[in-house]
Amino acid sequence: MDAVSTTPFPASVYAARLDRASALAADAGLDAIVVGPGPDLQYLVGVDGDTIERLTALVLGPGIAPTVVVPRMELAKVRSTAVGELGLAVSDWVDGDDAHTLVADVITGATRVGVSDALPALHVIPLADGLGLPLELATPVLREGRMIKDADEIAELRRAGTAIDAVHRRVPEWLRAGRTEREVAVDIAEAIVAEGHRTVEFVIVGSGPNGADPHHEVSDRVIEDGDVVVVDIGGAVPSGYNSDSTRTYVVGTPDATAAERIAVLVRAQQAAVDAVRPGVTAEQVDAAARTVLADAGLGDAFLHRTGHGIGVSVHEEPYIAPGNDLVLREGMAFSIEPGIYFAGEWGSRIEDIVVVTSDGCERLNVAPHGLTAV
Ligand code: ZN
Ligand code: ZN
Ligand code: ZN
Repeated sequence: MDAVSTTPFPASVYAARLDRASALAADAGLDAIVVGPGPDLQYLVGVDGDTIERLTALVLGPGIAPTVVVPRMELAKVRSTAVGELGLAVSDWVDGDDAHTLVADVITGATRVGVSDALPALHVIPLADGLGLPLELATPVLREGRMIKDADEIAELRRAGTAIDAVHRRVPEWLRAGRTEREVAVDIAEAIVAEGHRTVEFVIVGSGPNGADPHHEVSDRVIEDGDVVVVDIGGAVPSGYNSDSTRTYVVGTPDATAAERIAVLVRAQQAAVDAVRPGVTAEQVDAAARTVLADAGLGDAFLHRTGHGIGVSVHEEPYIAPGNDLVLREGMAFSIEPGIYFAGEWGSRIEDIVVVTSDGCERLNVAPHGLTAV
């Protein structure tokens, strides 16, 4: 694991998060939770890094002193996070040791053990074998903390939103006929960092027919006059919190039908934003956008959910999707990003991050929403 310290908050914040996770584990009847590298580990102790074959894991639970099992070569970096600030127990190991038994040693006697959803099968299977227990997903416990953002986390998401808005405002500098999507994306990526992000997480430039594929990233297609272009971009600010915002541009003068349909999409996006408040369900917010599009005969062109939660990861709970009856609460942060896609022709998406407030929501992206001519 290439561990990086991202502990933007005082140690007391991480201590409270750990206490809460243990209490939630107890409520769920879990004796222990094993958290592998990924957003949960970043949220709980500020250890940021990718999963690899050497086991790094945080073990916590009711009556368990939170303990980090870590390769000795990563020890210094892990100690530079809340793990060190809080003086958490550390069980380090070297190549040749069986790290899984170190986890088992911390949770002896446990009968129900949960694992974070990012813990790889490479570790889940040996852990289950070693413990002689079927492991459970700890996702319902771990998502509780991450889903509700406190004031400091919201401030970081706001910072990320302002930074990505600044990039969108500069897109007309780079987007023009005769350039490739990739050339435009290189300029955008540079600006994502220049405007205050630590990392570029993704850059989507979908011009003309490429915009009709919601999964398109970039290509060497040369942008043409009259193209509708979807630009969906995001990065992480130094604290690790993410931005994610989409705007739709047109090179020159838009086709009248495209302009009309995109105006409907802007209304659909606004309707979903207007629907957000505590007590409303995720699917009701999704339906608000979907209904506007369906009423305009564009229901079949909307190919995905309306949004996803965001925080130390770009996609997390809550998912704003049909069938999700999760009730929204103050402090939840998620995208509102309806889109319309016409295969072989063009596509459009408008995306803002919103945070649920006591009586509605705060929109974190305020760059102009309509079709922007460049
Ligand atoms: Zn093992
Ligand atoms: Zn996006
Ligand atoms: Zn998104």
